[in-house]
Amino acid sequence: MIDLHVHTTASDGTDSPEEVVKKAEELGLAAIAITDHDTASGAAAALEICDKYNVEVVAGIEISAEFKGTEVHILGYLIDPHSRALKPVLDWVVNDRNERNRKIVGMLEADGYDISLKGLEEKHPGTVLGRPHIAGWLMEKGYVSSIQQAFDEFLADGKKYFLPRTYLPLDEAVKAIKNAGGVAVAAHPLQYMFTDEKLRDFLRTAKAAGVIGMETMYSLYSQEETRYLENIAEELSLIKTGGSDYHGSRKPNIMLGIGTGSMAVPDGYLDGIKAAKRGYQR
Ligand code: AMP
Ligand code: FE
Ligand code: FE
Ligand code: ZN
Repeated sequence: MIDLHVHTTASDGTDSPEEVVKKAEELGLAAIAITDHDTASGAAAALEICDKYNVEVVAGIEISAEFKGTEVHILGYLIDPHSRALKPVLDWVVNDRNERNRKIVGMLEADGYDISLKGLEEKHPGTVLGRPHIAGWLMEKGYVSSIQQAFDEFLADGKKYFLPRTYLPLDEAVKAIKNAGGVAVAAHPLQYMFTDEKLRDFLRTAKAAGVIGMETMYSLYSQEETRYLENIAEELSLIKTGGSDYHGSRKPNIMLGIGTGSMAVPDGYLDGIKAAKRGYQR
């Protein structure tokens, strides 16, 4: 078994890259892909220590992008995490995130909440910060009793402290992944609440931009949903991939490798990704 969708403290996971690799070894996973939001630093750190563990580490990333007004996530696998092609794109995304974090935190401070950007940055050094970290802060200060409540009452779209981000166009996210030597895959296709027609439109458009696969297995998907996605993948000639979207204690119901308990991603899915990369290079 493998897990091709894992977050670390480089973004909004709560385990360090090394902790995640160690846990994967303990679980007997053959391979994991480190796919932090909008940063390759988690993947780079995992590559540096992975020789100590009996787990294959795939350097990955999960880039937020936009398709027809909806935020979508594109996974990149087998990237060079130090790629010079990736850096300016990610710098742009992170800069936009930081501007937004500054404004959200400013609004909270203005309303008397005990929060500061400096405090957040010191609490999470080297991390690409986002709403989950702000939610964690609000919980620790006792303003809410769970991360979910922080979203429901403060940070979710439509709530007082929500601000939109500026997203990369889909094709630019894919291009950045390809320029970093990686293979692009559409993440969790059912999370966007698209109709069947729009989902196919999204996947066809993504494929035209260079995406070669889609997540058909995901923590939150039933066997029926996975089968539905597998049929679409076959119709559109996209390869199948899968992963848990493990975030450590920030998403406590999702376990590394097995998701909510029954997910099992076959080792062969990574072979498909590797074959696609060789295909690019020919
Ligand atoms: P950001 O990238 O800063 O906008 O944060 C997005 C992350 O926040 C997502 O990956 C989710 O993990 C989490 N999130 C977004 N919306 C919600 C919500 N309504 N409830 C709980 N978590 C959410
Ligand atoms: Fe996340
Ligand atoms: Fe995602
Ligand atoms: Zn993810």
